[in-house]
Amino acid sequence: MDTDVIVIGAGLAGLQCARRLQRNGHRVTVLEAADAVGGRVRTDLIDGFRCDRGFQVLNPAYPAVRDWIDLDALGLQKFGVGAVIRTARSTTTLAHPLRHPQHALATLGSRHTPLQDLIGLARWIAPSLRQPPTGPRPQQDQTLSASFDAAGFTGRLRRDVLETFLAGVLADSSGQSSANYVRLLVRYFALGTPGLPREGMQALPEQMAQWLHDPVRLHTPAREIMHTADGVQVGTDAGPLRARAAVVAVAPQQLHELTEAPALPTHGLTTWWFRAPELPQHGKFLMLDATRRGGGPAGPIWNTAVVSQAAPSYAPEGQHLVQATTLLDRPDGLAEEAVVRRDLERLYQVSTADWELLTHHIVEHTLPVQPPPLREASPQQVGERVLIVGDHRDHGSLQGALVSGDQAARSVTRLLTG
Ligand SMILES: Cc1cc2nc3c(=O)[nH]c(=O)nc-3n(C[C@H](O)[C@H](O)[C@H](O)COP(=O)(O)OP(=O)(O)OC[C@H]3O[C@@H](n4cnc5c(N)ncnc54)[C@H](O)[C@@H]3O)c2cc1C
Repeated sequence: MDTDVIVIGAGLAGLQCARRLQRNGHRVTVLEAADAVGGRVRTDLIDGFRCDRGFQVLNPAYPAVRDWIDLDALGLQKFGVGAVIRTARSTTTLAHPLRHPQHALATLGSRHTPLQDLIGLARWIAPSLRQPPTGPRPQQDQTLSASFDAAGFTGRLRRDVLETFLAGVLADSSGQSSANYVRLLVRYFALGTPGLPREGMQALPEQMAQWLHDPVRLHTPAREIMHTADGVQVGTDAGPLRARAAVVAVAPQQLHELTEAPALPTHGLTTWWFRAPELPQHGKFLMLDATRRGGGPAGPIWNTAVVSQAAPSYAPEGQHLVQATTLLDRPDGLAEEAVVRRDLERLYQVSTADWELLTHHIVEHTLPVQPPPLREASPQQVGERVLIVGDHRDHGSLQGALVSGDQAARSVTRLLTG
């Protein structure tokens, strides 16, 4: 045997799986096809700007992050808990009244937050607040839209704010995601203040990889998995590797390349990253567009932020980094740069003529499609000694990926020692 367990894929699920296996006393070899660890959590350093491959944030309220990640070492730079809402004539900041008391009056007095909507929202979120964050999940589930209707949450706060915000988070504007999945995410947003690591999102998987005794083998795609009498054999370009078990921690759309499992559908988004020489807007909040009657943004951008206001390390001193997110499930998801710039000018009410496009990430496979009902967390065993893990086996998030990887490691340990 070359090793005890081969983990295929060094995204968060694969890395957490490898760490737990190592802690359980197994020898682990991690194979990664790409040139660095992280999977969907990567950062490009461009002229001193940190551009994550698709705008995303780390929520320190995720139990898996609290328990398994050294958050202090990451130096999380936090966003505000709320959003700037762009209307035709002005902007309003809606924010958590306890975390941002200076915005409490404007928030509670806004026409986007009528009392009826606040009650509807409270009714909608209540089931998830009564539930422990991990463990068995309620059987009943429905689509997000149906769950809003059922809670009587039907007004402007839903239409102009929450649906737009959540579409950006889920990369899904259809309203068809599992309501229980979204409740879980909203609960974490309510409990924690998301932010960005000092060195960029990729610092998270890099920290995890550092804790492994054997370095992750980069540029090493697994080509096939064969079952043997006493375990598995994984084919690589450098020759076969033999182990007692294998864990497949690849992305949902890649599963069919190595296993009999079908490729799973995903949602996608794009992120535009611009350098702005002048600050277009003060504050650490995401901006959402509420100018269109009936909800949803008037242009291709579903959310935008001056990222460097929340995370100063993302831009060189005196410069500003702006992200703009479009959704691939919309006809204008692949809007051209000129259209995106025009939309940004409308949203920030400034010229973007001297803004420089740093990069544009088209992330076709951002998150697994997550229809109701939300599944119990579980690794999938395919064959006697092969398990499948990843965010698609739990729920689409950093938390889901970490939990899935950890559970798989525990299952493998039981397999090998049982
Ligand atoms: C743009 C974007 C925004 C997001 N926003 C958030 C957010 O704000 N909050 C949040 O909680 N989550 C967010 N997510 C989701 C989160 O990033 C993912 O759920 C999580 O990173 C998935 O991790 P994973 O390990 O399951 O899969 P992946 O990260 O996809 O890892 C799979 C790995 O397997 C490797 N691989 C594939 N095939 C092979 C092979 N044959 N051999 C070897 N290696 C292989 C791949 O290269 C990759 O490194 C976002 C994701 C994206 C892309």
